[in-house]
Amino acid sequence: MFSKFSHLSNLKVNYELGKKTWFGSGGNCLFFYEANSFNNLITVLRIYKRFMPVLILGSGSNVLIRDGGFKGLVIKLGKNFKEIKLDQSNCVLSLGSAVKDIEISKFCLQNNISGFEFLSGIPGTIGGNLKMNAGCFGAQISDNLIDCNILNKNYEIEKLTKKELNFSYRKSSFSNDQIIINARFKTFHSDRKLIEKRLEEISRKRKKSQPVSSRTGGSTFKNPPHHSAWKLIDSIKFRGRSHGGASVSKLHSNFLINNDSATSLDIEILGEEIKNKVWKKFKINLDWELLRIGEFKKI
Ligand SMILES: Cc1cc2nc3c(=O)[nH]c(=O)nc-3n(C[C@H](O)[C@H](O)[C@H](O)COP(=O)(O)OP(=O)(O)OC[C@H]3O[C@@H](n4cnc5c(N)ncnc54)[C@H](O)[C@@H]3O)c2cc1C
Repeated sequence: MFSKFSHLSNLKVNYELGKKTWFGSGGNCLFFYEANSFNNLITVLRIYKRFMPVLILGSGSNVLIRDGGFKGLVIKLGKNFKEIKLDQSNCVLSLGSAVKDIEISKFCLQNNISGFEFLSGIPGTIGGNLKMNAGCFGAQISDNLIDCNILNKNYEIEKLTKKELNFSYRKSSFSNDQIIINARFKTFHSDRKLIEKRLEEISRKRKKSQPVSSRTGGSTFKNPPHHSAWKLIDSIKFRGRSHGGASVSKLHSNFLINNDSATSLDIEILGEEIKNKVWKKFKINLDWELLRIGEFKKI
């Protein structure tokens, strides 16, 4: 009987989830599973979804796992979700949801495709990008999207077009029980030199303005309409401020940093302090861009 479930041998129990995210803080999850094929994904979902919540994780670059951990199953999509395919005849690029942003920008450079340079500085995957409508330097992942295949809550594959996904600034309408499997994008050919120049420009700007080698989750808050979150944070003099092991980056005040010893609570409290101060001073609500997941640790 057990041989039927032999592909679940890589199921990990009480897995150190928080440590594996970009922040490197926070608690464990009950179960962790890397699904290397579509069939394995369906099997594990059918078994576990009846008993516990399920979270799909990309690179963990936009999440803060709370110190009490996640009382459920976390699934990371593996091998069979990493395909990159270019259909030259109709200029369509198909990407598996676990493909990393840096691999996409490299592939596009090799194939003289422009429009994906912005991904070179985002440490995510296509699944996370689409869910968050990730973007920077004037581009966002939904710009060239045609459609994507998702696994719905009835374990059926559904095709959703860009229009159906209601993308807006750092927002999409994917529900938490929709798993992005792959997506198709329009491509535009360009001169390799121009693409290289754009990549260099992005790399230079990032190194100058973002703590790229720190433990962080990227932008903490979304920019409120007509305002920049970092300017508001500077106005309340929080650049460099710390709480426990967490601090506000000196390079970019909308980035919070784990200085090695931070708990997720330190990071969240610092964020809440910023929110409160900005509200008191400007009556502007800062909306968390970081996704805070799981439970607080009981003391
Ligand atoms: C140094 C740094 C710089 C950053 N710069 C930027 C930036 O310039 N612009 C920007 O927009 N963001 C930025 N980010 C934030 C982050 O990288 C993006 O939001 C990225 O798109 C998240 O992708 P991920 O794979 O890490 O998703 P995760 O953080 O793992 O997950 C994010 C969300 O997506 C969901 N998800 C992931 N995969 C799937 C899937 N296959 N199906 C369904 N749901 C899924 C998760 O459940 C979760 O809700 C930065 C982060 C860091 C650490």
